[in-house]
Amino acid sequence: MRTRERIDEIFEEIVGIRRELHANPELSQQEVKTSQIISEFLTKYEINHETGIAGHGVVAMIKGKGKAVEGQRFFTIGIRADMDALPIDEKMDVPFKSKKKGIMHACGHDIHTAVLLGTAKILKEMEDTIPGNIKLFFEPAEETIGGAKQMIEAGCLMNPTVDAVIGLHITPEVEAGMVQFRRGKMNAASTEFEITVEGIACHGAHPENGVDTIVAASSLVCMLQTIVTRNLAPTNPGVITVGQIHGGNKNNVIAKETVISGIIRALDNGARNFMKKRVKEIVENVACGLGAKAKVQFTDSYPALVNNDELGDILEAAAEKILSKEKICFLQEPSLGADDFSYFSEAVKAIYFNIGCLDKNEITHQALHSELLNPNEECIRTGMLMEVFGVLELFQQMK
Ligand SMILES: [Zn+2]
Ligand SMILES: [Zn+2]
Repeated sequence: MRTRERIDEIFEEIVGIRRELHANPELSQQEVKTSQIISEFLTKYEINHETGIAGHGVVAMIKGKGKAVEGQRFFTIGIRADMDALPIDEKMDVPFKSKKKGIMHACGHDIHTAVLLGTAKILKEMEDTIPGNIKLFFEPAEETIGGAKQMIEAGCLMNPTVDAVIGLHITPEVEAGMVQFRRGKMNAASTEFEITVEGIACHGAHPENGVDTIVAASSLVCMLQTIVTRNLAPTNPGVITVGQIHGGNKNNVIAKETVISGIIRALDNGARNFMKKRVKEIVENVACGLGAKAKVQFTDSYPALVNNDELGDILEAAAEKILSKEKICFLQEPSLGADDFSYFSEAVKAIYFNIGCLDKNEITHQALHSELLNPNEECIRTGMLMEVFGVLELFQQMK
């Protein structure tokens, strides 16, 4: 198959790009050089693109010049790769180790970006026969403010209207060369909360003269857990974590104010809203019962990520053809982690899948967001195969 050979031919070049990105990681909203590397590559291969989208994002477009498949519309499919790195000090001693102390591509976004550049190059070479358009989304700030949301707000799903979006993430849980799918719910919806409890300060030896916000806050921390154990059905997963509690500044003084903050996670947006409602009720009523006043502020983060079944069927079929059935596995449980690809899956039909990056011979512990992450670069080949053949299969099969 000619396309597969082309992917093999450009493999080294794309590994080189990945290493350049890896050595020059940039934090969320600071992806200046990354954006430049992307733009230079796209310019070199005459791929139309716009920079400066939602900060340092890049949107590229390959207009297929083939005829739509019989009985099909002329679809536009988006492929997304995230670009940003993390505030982590790399500990692996690789030749392309991060040149920036305290910043590392520890979530594989260097690989995602390189894979999409390789995919762009291959699809551009095929544009005369491609029966649809492909939009390439190089997305900034996945790790912090949800660059996907801002790219959508900047109009990346319009002109032409995007019919479906695909995206991939590396996983060190699975061996390189494999692809991992998940049907339906894949990642959680996330909301942050901050609760302020107000009371009355007084001497610690005379609690009868005050209202103790530390006691009220301690009750709240325990009561909040009843939302998960008593209000959500046991079959409906949710998490409430209090990550911070700050109150008081002297051992013998009753604290006037205590602030509690944390996160809510749920696997669908309805459950998240229900949990927020219960948090508010508990906060106000428990505090009131203890004579204190409390208010809660929510900041919604990413929505739940739900994969589209039709796209799942088509990509699985593509993976079977191009990689073989033995190279396909399934994520058994959804994750309560969050990924902002969910903004795409909320807006259009979309599918997110994982590519294995585990090296059997690597002895250090491999995990995303770990200072020791060292993906087997073979996953770059799998990524390009899946994106290129996945998109081509979608043009054939999508309804
Ligand atoms: Zn990450
Ligand atoms: Zn990531």
